[in-house]
Amino acid sequence: MQNLEEKKLNMEKQLKAIPEAKELKRLKEDIEGRQDEIRNLKDELSRLKKTLKEEEDGLSMLTDKIQKAGLELYSGEITNVKELEAAEKNINVTREKAARVEEKILELMDKIENGEERVRGLLKRLEEAKTQFRRLKEVYDNKKASLAQALNEIAEQLDDLERKVSPEHLAMYLELCRKFDDSKGVALLQKGVCSGCHMTVSFDLIKLSRSGSRDVFCDNCGRLLVVE
Ligand SMILES: [Zn+2]
Repeated sequence: MQNLEEKKLNMEKQLKAIPEAKELKRLKEDIEGRQDEIRNLKDELSRLKKTLKEEEDGLSMLTDKIQKAGLELYSGEITNVKELEAAEKNINVTREKAARVEEKILELMDKIENGEERVRGLLKRLEEAKTQFRRLKEVYDNKKASLAQALNEIAEQLDDLERKVSPEHLAMYLELCRKFDDSKGVALLQKGVCSGCHMTVSFDLIKLSRSGSRDVFCDNCGRLLVVE
């Protein structure tokens, strides 16, 4: 019974400390971090696209303006030289403005393209991390299930044993176990040494145990001794 209880405790410990649990936690944090990064990048991209649209609208307004001014200039309506010069200068200024906007648009398009490529890379790595997580989770779940099953079997064996022992003896055993920090009331007597306290017992006790007596208690720690 004591051995089974030790086994049970051991398995409960193992169940709490399945090695994959730590790695799973790390992977989960990693996945969440990547998801955050992707979300932020997508937000940034949609802001850039909005700016791009605004710049494109601005450019088409400037292009219209240049076209209209050009038509006016060559329509022959303006005859005054100074006015002609001013109109030409105006068109040039607008053209320069449009060129600057075009440059900005190209920059924005580059940025968006790079950002989208980064998102694709991040999504790929996210999928890889998710696959790794799923595989490890499966290993973890299997280990957990088999430990739980083994634990169940031990609990059943313990129940069986408890049913086989008389209530008085069971109570005595439990009472004895309560006296010790490690809850072990029974120890083995091996080559004259108690396995509970690791002390050599007295010669009289060894003699008593050899006589077949069932009530041999370690004269050092008080555990019930069972001869191997
Ligand atoms: Zn002892």
